Amino acid sequence: MKDITEKDLKENIPLATRTIQEFERIIKAEKVNIGRGNLTIIAGPCTIESKTQIFEIAKEVKEAGADMLRGGVFKPLTFPYNDPLNRKDSDSNCQQGNDYSSRIVLSLDEKLKRAEKRFGYFKEAGEKYGLPIVSEIIYANSLEMMSKYVDMLQIGYRHMFNMDLIEAVSTSKKPILIKRHAGQSLRDLLGVCEHFEARNKHNFVVCERGVVAPHTHESNSRFIGDIQSILAFKKYAPSIPIFFDPSHATFNRDYINGMTWAAVAAGADGIIIEVHPNPEKAWVDPLQAINFKNFKKLVKVTREIYDLVHKS
Ligand code: PEP
Ligand code: MN
Repeated sequence: MKDITEKDLKENIPLATRTIQEFERIIKAEKVNIGRGNLTIIAGPCTIESKTQIFEIAKEVKEAGADMLRGGVFKPLTFPYNDPLNRKDSDSNCQQGNDYSSRIVLSLDEKLKRAEKRFGYFKEAGEKYGLPIVSEIIYANSLEMMSKYVDMLQIGYRHMFNMDLIEAVSTSKKPILIKRHAGQSLRDLLGVCEHFEARNKHNFVVCERGVVAPHTHESNSRFIGDIQSILAFKKYAPSIPIFFDPSHATFNRDYINGMTWAAVAAGADGIIIEVHPNPEKAWVDPLQAINFKNFKKLVKVTREIYDLVHKS
């Protein structure tokens, strides 16, 4: 991997590396101000499973102090089976609906149709509880449909360098949350930021969500949360907010609190975290979601740490 050079700073990433004095970056998701002295806490399920589920989560995370609501509708899947869009909405006990065959690969048209129904009630839940919503975009041609519903577009780690998506979302007014790929360097991440800047797209944040490491301490963790990258990113790109996703970084709910607190102490401007009423039963990523009780405690301590670090 290549380190950042003086030549890079001058020729390749001059816009992404501007200081706060040189460039005032204003990022808003509806009424929520992001960066510039605000800690943004985004919470919600990995996957939207039903209207009941997302309304219950919205209510609980709002009460616990979240600023925004997350939820996946289009899921990038490691395997082609068990696409959540292939499942019927679950009941309030999170029993998995399995009326559709989990092995059918849906056409894109069918996916868009089914997804729109879920985005519809996701938006309603966000509005009812005053939480702007964020969801991952996978298909550039879903931008128009998604733009009717979501307040922020997420680009997942698998798509960090997907120019089709980057070009598409750069034409949108919506703020973007782009995740760092698990195998990409800080230089590569800054390159993506420059791709946005060069297209006059300035309202975006990056998100560290774990890197591939030779070992992960436990069999049920896939990545290592790269806390150090938060410090390095802040040094090179002080005007661009950096978030941390402890859920995908650790894949392990036992590590969520500690890693969130470490990230905020290191200077993270926001966190995005998976919360589920019944974590073990979550359709996707059941090992990493936390329950409402833990989330409430997490928010309280996380805000205390943020205030302590930023006041001193
Ligand atoms: C997600 O946030 O739901 C997700 C799939 O994230 P990542 O791209 O980090 O795996
Ligand atoms: Mn997930």
